[in-house]
Amino acid sequence: MDLQGTSFIGAGRGSGGAGESRAVNPVSGEEMEPAYLAEGEESVEAVCSLAAAAFVDFRERSGVDKAGFLRAIADEVDALEEEIVSRMTRETGLPEGRCRMEKGRTCGQLRLFASLLEEGSWVDARIDHADPDRAPVAKPDCRSMWRPMGPVVVFCASNFPLAYSVAGGDTASALASGCPVIVKAHGSHPGTAEIVATAVRIAVEKCGMHEGVFSMLYGSGRTIGQSLVRHSVVRAVGFTGSRNGGRALMDAAAARPEPIPVWAEMSAINPVFVLPGALRERGDAIADGFVGSLTLGVGQFCTNPGLLITGGEGRSQFAERIASLAGEAAPAAMLHKGIAEAYQDALKAMMTKEGVETLAQVPVEDGSSQGGAVVLGADAAGFLSDQSMAEEMFGPATLMVSADDEAAMLEVAESLEGQLTATVHATEEDLEMFGKLIAVLERKAGRLVYNGFPTGVEVCHGMVHGGPSPATSDGRSTSVGPRAITRFTRLVCWQDFPDSLLPPELQEDNPLKISRIVDGKRT
Ligand code: NAP
Repeated sequence: MDLQGTSFIGAGRGSGGAGESRAVNPVSGEEMEPAYLAEGEESVEAVCSLAAAAFVDFRERSGVDKAGFLRAIADEVDALEEEIVSRMTRETGLPEGRCRMEKGRTCGQLRLFASLLEEGSWVDARIDHADPDRAPVAKPDCRSMWRPMGPVVVFCASNFPLAYSVAGGDTASALASGCPVIVKAHGSHPGTAEIVATAVRIAVEKCGMHEGVFSMLYGSGRTIGQSLVRHSVVRAVGFTGSRNGGRALMDAAAARPEPIPVWAEMSAINPVFVLPGALRERGDAIADGFVGSLTLGVGQFCTNPGLLITGGEGRSQFAERIASLAGEAAPAAMLHKGIAEAYQDALKAMMTKEGVETLAQVPVEDGSSQGGAVVLGADAAGFLSDQSMAEEMFGPATLMVSADDEAAMLEVAESLEGQLTATVHATEEDLEMFGKLIAVLERKAGRLVYNGFPTGVEVCHGMVHGGPSPATSDGRSTSVGPRAITRFTRLVCWQDFPDSLLPPELQEDNPLKISRIVDGKRT
């Protein structure tokens, strides 16, 4: 495919006017063609008005229609797999296998949302029949369900160029709910974004959707990204990235005359607790699994385990094994220079703190885009006395904290901010002694992992990839799995409406044959 380097403004292409940039191969440092033209305010206006027009039609499309659209996007992405993989490996330094796997996950997500729409019960339809004879006042007929909010802005993630970017989880869940999507492309993988946006465009045309149902802009987050979030047409935002970026968008959305939700997935250190019995029984196996999880994808996963808490007999050998395995891990290119620099800065800040010792450090050349594994150590008292020790080091680095008894472990757990995950390695005996730990962690994290590792995030109905702030902006939902769909919806109730004016999901004879709650009973 000949890449054009321009934005997708409905069915048309942008002409830039606000500067240009090129993707940089993080392995070779080479700049890649073509130049990508950044858009300005006029294009923000254009995509927002197209999205508003598209919403009028798209929100009324049946679940089956929207499912067909999501399946068509997945098919077109599949058809462009070779072009995607070839560009993505060069733009991100990610190995081919990872790119293909992420492509599979992206298409799988789109198809999972399609099957949710085909089944139809996700709208959570509830019907309470009228009772005109009720005393002292008659009861009205009330029927409610989830409805789409309106155009959604999706910020692409640097660490998931497919699965959390142009046609990724946020886009899939927003489209599934009936919301048009405007994507703000990430500057580190613009070519991958252009290929995937082309796939979405083809699907829009094939399915006869309004052109404004999908647009994608290249440009700066601080200019057009902020303008999109502030635009009156936009009803919600999906974001994956840094805490500063997410916070800036939350503030912009809250300052609007009509504030809107920002579903931001930001930083987490995903604590792993290894309890004494588990350490004694299978310390070596836990160490091996932990280092695999730590170094996977050069540590650039939001679920990377950045904090390891252990105590009891065998702790020193366990720490030595982790340090030795991590020290042998080959360094590799990080996704872009900015991430590599941020990683080095975070390491320097952590390594110079009082009470932090370096147990292993894989050396990398100064100024290179590579990230090497690092294992640091501290004791519980030191950790508890300096909150900044709990800050994210985005990359393959972890802080091992020794906590010798249940009280110290509980204090460490209690001190933590909101997390995406919390992991416990335990035996049944451990759980009798450390029972309170699980209850504390349930308040801290969106997903609790037992005798496993946090990095793999299964895309399935039961998954929660969320967690209390600051892991996310709002811990009531998930950005992975079908439950993500309600982030872009709101509840609407129809009171005393004639059947013919109700959405099919709420009509008396249940034409879509979906599961509903009628007069308080699930049918
Ligand atoms: P980022 O700096 O937060 O950028 C993500 C997106 O948000 C980009 O499109 C960026 O646009 C936009 N943006 C950033 N600040 C903004 C602001 N103030 N106003 C409006 N838009 C803004 O994240 P990144 O480039 O992907 O990576 C940088 C760092 O974020 C990493 O080193 C890491 O620490 C963290 N990160 C964490 C996770 C996680 O899952 N925990 C994932 C990815 C990154 P522009 O680039 O055009 O400014």
